[in-house]
Amino acid sequence: MGRLIDTDLELFEIIEREKARQKSHIELIASENFVSPSVLEAAGSVLTNKYAEGYPKKRYYGGCEFVDQAEDLARERLKALFGVKYVNVQPHSGSQANMGAYRAIINPKDKVMGLALDQGGHLTHGHPLNFSGVDYEFHPYFVSKETEMIDYDDLAQKALEIQPKLIVAGASAYPRTLDFKRFREIADSVGALLMVDMAHIAGLVAAKVHPNPCDYADIVTSTTHKTLRGPRGGIILTNNQAISEKLDKIVFPGIQGGPLMHVIAAKAVAFKEALEPSFTEYQKQVVMNAKAFADEFVKLNYHVVSGGTDNHLLLLEVKSKTGLTGKKAENLLDRVNITCNKNTVPYDTEKPFITSGIRLGTPAMTTRGFNEEDFRLVARLIDKTLSNPDNEVILEEVRTSVQVLTDRYPLPY
Ligand SMILES: *Cc1c(COP(=O)(O)O)cnc(C)c1O
Repeated sequence: MGRLIDTDLELFEIIEREKARQKSHIELIASENFVSPSVLEAAGSVLTNKYAEGYPKKRYYGGCEFVDQAEDLARERLKALFGVKYVNVQPHSGSQANMGAYRAIINPKDKVMGLALDQGGHLTHGHPLNFSGVDYEFHPYFVSKETEMIDYDDLAQKALEIQPKLIVAGASAYPRTLDFKRFREIADSVGALLMVDMAHIAGLVAAKVHPNPCDYADIVTSTTHKTLRGPRGGIILTNNQAISEKLDKIVFPGIQGGPLMHVIAAKAVAFKEALEPSFTEYQKQVVMNAKAFADEFVKLNYHVVSGGTDNHLLLLEVKSKTGLTGKKAENLLDRVNITCNKNTVPYDTEKPFITSGIRLGTPAMTTRGFNEEDFRLVARLIDKTLSNPDNEVILEEVRTSVQVLTDRYPLPY
């Protein structure tokens, strides 16, 4: 047994190439981030060797005394971070967290309402090919055509007609603050439960730059690897003891086997980081950067969905200004080392695989140190690229500017 560089040069070099890509590209995928070296260390630790089916002090295996300490630490820190009574830190991913949450509070075939998938909702909020769409009867709610923000009046009206068992709030591509109080009122008005999937905004919530859904929802799920800046994984939170007891049985043995103890340890490290004052400063900067980024696009006469952003991301409708589809824009930006993803915009006329827009997020580059001026410059670089798709000289100029920027803000790996 030796080091990767000695035992498997082929894979070692793949990792080195990916590291070089991360260093040299401007990362604007709103769901990505760069973990600290400490989180990386815990995720790559010997805890990966341990089987620990069950929960601390109630395991099906011996030798769990130290991984128990790691899981307890993760749980206590997570409770403190969101001011919540019960948590489960074992879900392997955000999708698993959602499966656990649904199974804990509703039954197969029950009616559920979630944000329309082509307006920002997630796969696990009722996509026909996803378990959620197979197991439950999902009904979408929508954003208003005028404001491009969630139409709460319409949601209230539709909820009255549909009588769902559960309303899901939360999104993968929604740039505005979610009004949890309003969601709660609407759920109560029809006797529905409320689940909040805060996967994208958990870091903002932890830093109190977005309202905390734990004050309103029956159950809250999240990923740990987006704005929260931890390892890849999921978590579930609730203030309801009965739900929490049901939930623990559903995560294990219901839908998962042994927990990923190395990842749970890395989650504990990330939660400690998120409790530090510097994390609040970071999240404030994420939001200020997104506002500056959106503002620059507005100045450049782009249609920014909903006119701006309150959080860490914006949706840029590129087709009306540049004539390019989202797919084309994504590919073109890839060529100048700017990474983002195509995204449908509300009431998009293009297919989901083509789209009229791109989704742009600030969490990753803010971790590297980008400020508002840097993001204004990135907006101008994106405009320059999309306005000159066939001009190789200009594309080369943009690549050079990207290199200057990424060199100025190195990664600590
Ligand atoms: C990312 C995301 C998820 C799923 O997370 P995975 O870890 O990719 O399974 C769930 N819900 C929302 C709203 C998300 O944005």
